[in-house]
Amino acid sequence: MSMGAANMDVLVSLSKRRGFVFQSSEIYGGTGSVWDYGPLGVELKNNIKRVWWRDFVQQRADMVGIDASILMHPTVWKASGHLDHFTDPMVDCRECKRRFRADHVDAQPWTHYCPATKGNKFTIPAGEPCGHCGQRRTLCPECGKGELTAPRQFNLMFKTFMGPVEDEAAVTYLRPETAQAMFVNFDNVLQSMRLKLPFGIGQAGRSFRNEITPGNFIFRTREFEQMEIEFFVNPNDRVEGRPADEYWHDRWIEDCMAWFLRYGLAADNLRLREHEHDELAHYAKRTVDIEYKFPIGWSELMGIANRTDFDLKQHAKWSGKSLTYFDEERKEHVVPFVVEPAAGVDRALLAFMADAYREEEVRGEKRVVLKLHPELAPIKVAVLPLLKKRDDIVRAAHAIRADLAKHWRVVYDDTAAIGRLYRRQDEVGTPYCLTVDVQTVGDTERGERGDGRVTIRERNSMEQVRVPVPELIAVIRELLDGAPWPQVAGRYPSPRS
Ligand SMILES: [Zn+2]
Ligand SMILES: [Zn+2]
Repeated sequence: MSMGAANMDVLVSLSKRRGFVFQSSEIYGGTGSVWDYGPLGVELKNNIKRVWWRDFVQQRADMVGIDASILMHPTVWKASGHLDHFTDPMVDCRECKRRFRADHVDAQPWTHYCPATKGNKFTIPAGEPCGHCGQRRTLCPECGKGELTAPRQFNLMFKTFMGPVEDEAAVTYLRPETAQAMFVNFDNVLQSMRLKLPFGIGQAGRSFRNEITPGNFIFRTREFEQMEIEFFVNPNDRVEGRPADEYWHDRWIEDCMAWFLRYGLAADNLRLREHEHDELAHYAKRTVDIEYKFPIGWSELMGIANRTDFDLKQHAKWSGKSLTYFDEERKEHVVPFVVEPAAGVDRALLAFMADAYREEEVRGEKRVVLKLHPELAPIKVAVLPLLKKRDDIVRAAHAIRADLAKHWRVVYDDTAAIGRLYRRQDEVGTPYCLTVDVQTVGDTERGERGDGRVTIRERNSMEQVRVPVPELIAVIRELLDGAPWPQVAGRYPSPRS
């Protein structure tokens, strides 16, 4: 029996309890919308980035990667439009000095000191008038006393200073997206790698946005990680009878959707959303979001945009450098069009966790299990000794852990009874548990020799088989490479009960 998907509170609590995600600087009361990945969170996050890089960069002949710096030349942000347009309209309270997004201020409950009830204080639901006096909100929704300023544009980039002098000439920014580094390095990559269109540049790295209303756990944060691809195509080419940029845009939408399905997101929780014409960025020809049904509702998981030749042209204009490609066939220089599949790592992690979370009933007991794809699971194998008083069992278990840990993240745990240890591993998504018992090592006092096998238990089915220790690495590798459990388990005997 399986019960529904996780709500956000359940995920936040599991994340903290089991070392996935902690609030940043928690002992000082926390930092606004910044989160730290704990011992299991960092493994899960690294695994997401690793499989993304492997599938979209390493395995493709038409892709290369870069790792650019976070601090870039400030003119990059002039050319990209971020300095002038990456803004939200903000209002400030003249009393309590709190700041709100002008377009969000009526979307929160508001504090009201009601003149019809001798100034009693009420909290009134968002957008509703006071039930006593009929007034609507005009003052600060938080303190209920201060007037709000007129809206002002507030830039979302974090500003800082490069070098020892804090003056205007030294101003620079923490990058708000990784994409621009691919554009400004376009010619370096093209020339150094001798590439032919179409080709793409991939990058995973941190970006920063001073969001005024961040929130929903790791869904929207001020410091986050992106996995972005800029895929350059010749706009004069046609593929399957269509303009190359349109063909490749559709291909990337399909490939990205297939990627999320492959690593375990349920098809019912994914959908495509076409941007309307009035919400398209000024440079975009077409943008499609992959949306996921997060615990907060349908929201963007990643966006795939056709950015045309806007970025390369802008950087050519501001830098004075030519950013073109020589089309040998037509003997002409062209500015490539670019298709941009851009995903958030933190958001992907939240989606994978939410989708994997299950509460099941097993023989009258509740079990929480994260049915993460084995390649994403933070711990691949847990080695558990059945009796921790027996030195030979404990020694064998430690030796197996050390051997497997050359290949994967593997843990040893003997701090509870076996049933409890299994539940703990289920809760963090460990796909395989190995138990070392008396049968493995034998019993010298009784003159019994061990069979040299350990029990492998598979997380989802909870089935168990006995596998000879020397075959463990090959068996685990086969399973992690995608072999179905029944096919592998069928070759080995079940444990004696
Ligand atoms: Zn106020
Ligand atoms: Zn009132």
